[in-house]
Amino acid sequence: MFTGRHGAAEVAEYLTVWFVKAARQLPWREDTSPYRIWISEVMLQQTTVQTVRPFFERFIKLFPTLQSLAQSSEEDVLAAWSRLGYYTRARNLLKTARLLVNNGAELPEDLRDLQRLPGIGAYTAGAIRAIAFNRPSPMVDANARRLLGRILGIVAHAPRAEQQVWQASLDVSTAGTPRIVNQAMMEIGALVCTAGQPNCAECPLESLCKASTLRSFDWYGSVPKKQVIQRRQEVCVVARWADRWLLSRPSDGRWRGMWEFPRTLAIPDPEEAIRRLLNDCGWADVEDFEYAGAVRHQVTRYAISLHVLKCHLPSAPTGVPGEWRLASVEELAILPLPSPMRKIAELHTDPAGDHTP
Ligand code: SF4
Repeated sequence: MFTGRHGAAEVAEYLTVWFVKAARQLPWREDTSPYRIWISEVMLQQTTVQTVRPFFERFIKLFPTLQSLAQSSEEDVLAAWSRLGYYTRARNLLKTARLLVNNGAELPEDLRDLQRLPGIGAYTAGAIRAIAFNRPSPMVDANARRLLGRILGIVAHAPRAEQQVWQASLDVSTAGTPRIVNQAMMEIGALVCTAGQPNCAECPLESLCKASTLRSFDWYGSVPKKQVIQRRQEVCVVARWADRWLLSRPSDGRWRGMWEFPRTLAIPDPEEAIRRLLNDCGWADVEDFEYAGAVRHQVTRYAISLHVLKCHLPSAPTGVPGEWRLASVEELAILPLPSPMRKIAELHTDPAGDHTP
């Protein structure tokens, strides 16, 4: 731990000097209102700064206030989130906005009140309180964990390691200007004290860092946890009727509320699985499927191979379980489609392609 208040104050001072000089210009740093900080921090969960940047700017243009977000439809919000992945984040944003607006409330400042809202965990609550309200708060993500683990030399498997880094984060936040020092910890973790090769020569904390002194960098937060990846085979069908394509909207699962080419587990094999799916929808007589490859993507611990089959529907659809629709190419471009489905739409829905309804 930092040695008393003096240690944390020294860290806070070094962080402040460095941040004022070296922080990146990011759109959510221009205006630190609670609404903008909340949106940016939720986007930054599981997504890099570079990816988030244009999404954040577009999202804020579409939904500039908590009220405008609360009044939007889920379909519009998911469409704005399309390609960013982890769509539960977007659904929770909308849920929280509606909850607050319906109660005539704004985003609260209190950590516990923040964590009662959908999609706001300890880290995001700390970020909103520290950056938007400038109040001392612990805030530990992978970057801050690695940074603090190295500075303090916390052993990778120490029993109270996680508690120690959260306490250290709070100590530094309390000792400085929370809005600045909290962001500085994240920024140094992202840019200087990186997972691969920490750049100690450029680090403002080098003189008090245990890892740098020992020239040993595998401390708590630096040693990756082993994750067991499960493989999963899915298949979807790009089914064409005239100049439009069949889409369905799942009511549960990871893409709930978005549109997709009808999809199922590839059991016993992709073609048979799709044959059964179409059979359930009233098309028993689709014979010719064209295998169009697979799109690979990862969602949490699942490595998914999404096989793509193409076919022509022999008749206009009359009923598909759950919600469904036919969409033209123009409609496909604006509907909320998850990234793998958008990729498939771009590759396999050429209106000038083969066409035999
Ligand atoms: S001195 Fe090196 S190891 Fe220590 S915090 Fe800075 S970059 Fe990381």
